[in-house]
Amino acid sequence: MNRPLEIVIVGGGTAGWMSAAALAGVLTREQVSVRLVESDEIGTVGVGEATLPQMKEFNDYVGIIESDMMRKTNATFKLGIEFVDWGYKGSSYIHPFGTHGKPTGSVAFHHQWVRALQAGHSYDIEDFSYAIVAARNNKFEFPGGDPAAINSTYSYAYHFDASLYARFLRDFAEARGARRTEGKVVDVALHPESGDIASIKLQSGESITGDLFIDCSGFRALLIGRDPKNSFEDWTKWLPCDTALAVPCASAGQLTPHTRSTAREAGWQWRIPLQVRTGNGYVFSSAFISEDAAAATLMQNLDGAPLDEPRRIRFKAGRRLKSWRGNCLAIGLASGFLEPLESTSIYLIQMAIVNLLKLFPRKPIDPTLIDEFNRLVDLEYERVRDFLILHYYANTRDDSELWKYCRNMDVPDSLREKMALFVHRGHIEKYKDGLFAPPSWLSVFLGQGLRPKNYDRLADNMELDATLTGLDSLRASIGERVKAMPDHDAFVRDYCPAADAARAPAMMDAHA
Ligand SMILES: Cc1cc2nc3c(=O)[nH]c(=O)nc-3n(C[C@H](O)[C@H](O)[C@H](O)COP(=O)(O)OP(=O)(O)OC[C@H]3O[C@@H](n4cnc5c(N)ncnc54)[C@H](O)[C@@H]3O)c2cc1C
Repeated sequence: MNRPLEIVIVGGGTAGWMSAAALAGVLTREQVSVRLVESDEIGTVGVGEATLPQMKEFNDYVGIIESDMMRKTNATFKLGIEFVDWGYKGSSYIHPFGTHGKPTGSVAFHHQWVRALQAGHSYDIEDFSYAIVAARNNKFEFPGGDPAAINSTYSYAYHFDASLYARFLRDFAEARGARRTEGKVVDVALHPESGDIASIKLQSGESITGDLFIDCSGFRALLIGRDPKNSFEDWTKWLPCDTALAVPCASAGQLTPHTRSTAREAGWQWRIPLQVRTGNGYVFSSAFISEDAAAATLMQNLDGAPLDEPRRIRFKAGRRLKSWRGNCLAIGLASGFLEPLESTSIYLIQMAIVNLLKLFPRKPIDPTLIDEFNRLVDLEYERVRDFLILHYYANTRDDSELWKYCRNMDVPDSLREKMALFVHRGHIEKYKDGLFAPPSWLSVFLGQGLRPKNYDRLADNMELDATLTGLDSLRASIGERVKAMPDHDAFVRDYCPAADAARAPAMMDAHA
């Protein structure tokens, strides 16, 4: 019988512990041994608190109980992201986790909406998204199970405390046999012939051997970044933000079931509501604003009292040419980073882990598995990249240099073609793999001010009157159903109140 594949993970941030939890949770001890090395002295990036709905699939796949995870990470629910001032100053739209309306026959809903508009009728597309109406009214409940019912047309994600999530995953992984070693990696020994990693050396002098090394060391990219042929592909020209200032503040007002992103002079500010505090940060391009000015803007725009000084994080948009080479595979920030505008990094971690499990190798590692893994990673990165660029490129702001630069930049052909098809007749290509699905593109296209000049001709197969009646009744039924939903606050308190009893009352006070 084959001995278990020895996996060594370097790094204990979200990427490291998600990898350890999944490998130890899904594979047996006869298949793998999992060892994770992390350094308390170095610490983690400490941000990354908003997620996408796929996170639930990951938790279910690995065997994590949702309410337990949410209680222990001070989590709240997320139905989408509100973009304030993005298309133009004074605008607001939500990218919901769900569809707008329901398809009529083989025609996507928005074609009927465009048709009604072109016939001179006035309808706000947001009124047809269950997730948006619920988010704007601070309501939450789990989606319904009947696919014919309108309350099954959305999904949800989480906001959570990233350090508590890593801690939660650590307990989960260790209970399933993953071993943790505290220590700083100071050197890497290579096999003289293959060039593969033979072992890593810790400051303590200990040497750790393995079959597969997973680099989760964050922006340092300790293992994957050593290879001069595996350089970093820099996408700053399309995604110019390179710095974030992050600061938590006290909760205030309603516990909103959505992330908020507000466009600012040289970037944007996030607001992520957790049960006991709110996470905030200003993501900006240092080419367009000084750090002091960015810090002043951030601190002037907090909901509640700041709980700390702003912390600076520098980054570069882009990805490693190959996430997996030889017996070294990078997951998380070590493999690349696309700014957090659409909360995609943890999703990219998840996809890397799921693909690794799908293609799980034996010894010696077959290069065709590596090629396929890298192909899937590239696809994900490029699709997320285009979606993010859209937010910047399709703006009509002329109040600052960043927005003017973005409006005039030369975007990838893949995005240009997608935008042209949408404007021509509202067509949005559906991907087989990867983010994002058509409802996400639709909300950002429209939110950023693009309007289809025409619609799918099949929409004419229905009488216009019947279409209008359908729109009216759909809008009314969403409004009524959402009214009957519980408040998000109440739902969270009932389902997953923060485990830290000493801090939980803060949530009550804040909303009193
Ligand atoms: C400003 C900002 C906001 C973000 N917001 C979001 C968001 O809302 N949603 C989202 O999905 N993602 C977000 N992300 C991304 C998210 O934070 C990361 O994807 C996630 O935290 C994973 O990080 P990581 O585990 O790869 O790296 P890190 O958290 O940096 O962990 C690196 C680990 O490597 C260890 N290490 C490093 N060097 C050594 C060494 N020599 N020896 C031993 N150990 C070592 C460290 O101790 C640490 O444990 C954001 C990122 C930034 C920069």
